[in-house]
Amino acid sequence: MHKHIQPGVFLLLFLAIGCRTQSPVATQLPQLSPAAQLAQQNVDATIYQNMSAEVYRLFQQGYELAKIRLDANLARPHTLPPAVIVDIDETVLDNSPYQVTNAASGRTYSPETWKQWTAKASAKALPGAVEFLNYAAGKGCAIYYISNRETDELGPTLRNLASEGFPMVDTAHVILMHGTSDKTTRRAQVAATHYIALLAGDQLRDFDESFKNRSVDHGKPLVDAQRDTLERYFIMLPNSMYGTWLDAVSGKPLEGKPVNKGAVLKKNAN
Ligand SMILES: [Mg+2]
Repeated sequence: MHKHIQPGVFLLLFLAIGCRTQSPVATQLPQLSPAAQLAQQNVDATIYQNMSAEVYRLFQQGYELAKIRLDANLARPHTLPPAVIVDIDETVLDNSPYQVTNAASGRTYSPETWKQWTAKASAKALPGAVEFLNYAAGKGCAIYYISNRETDELGPTLRNLASEGFPMVDTAHVILMHGTSDKTTRRAQVAATHYIALLAGDQLRDFDESFKNRSVDHGKPLVDAQRDTLERYFIMLPNSMYGTWLDAVSGKPLEGKPVNKGAVLKKNAN
């Protein structure tokens, strides 16, 4: 059919195609609000934490290792009565449903929605946690829950831990945050009267506050420097959703602004 088109028409077509290169060809993606952009950036991490059999197994594995380490440490000489210290969030209780709700509704963490979640007292125990802490209690250990939940979350936190079957859930053993996220003083309170046989957490800071420093190679040299102590006394559990590791790279989610992770990745690309 082209053979019937006059030469002048070809010229017009050529000009028309030439002009089109000046206008956008690709369809623009819908504009998301900054909060929604930030929520989307966390989606794969949240799916991994909430849904994967891999994380499910990592928790089981962590608490299996905890039993081995606890037995070894209880066999070491000690004079004070033994204790185990655990963090709460993403260590013994699973808050990934809160993060899933955030991602699904295009919002990010806020203290208000977080407290609405904890007030429900409906978080499930993480795999292996109840079994391990009851095992430790059976071996004569006091169990201390040192958490950066705030003191006004104490009531529902106690109810939630008790309903999931955790041992020693009372105001003496559940120690929440009094102003500072640094747990050093709270750990020292327990260490004053107990031999701390094991700690478990989803953050290295659940073991030692010095791990807040991520200035050199994301803090990995500090891990190497304390490796023997970590191996003996700390069980590291996975949290792909939030933490000091992420704050150090892209700022706290509380700041509510979208993070250019592309720029972060380019800086670290080879
Ligand atoms: Mg935690």
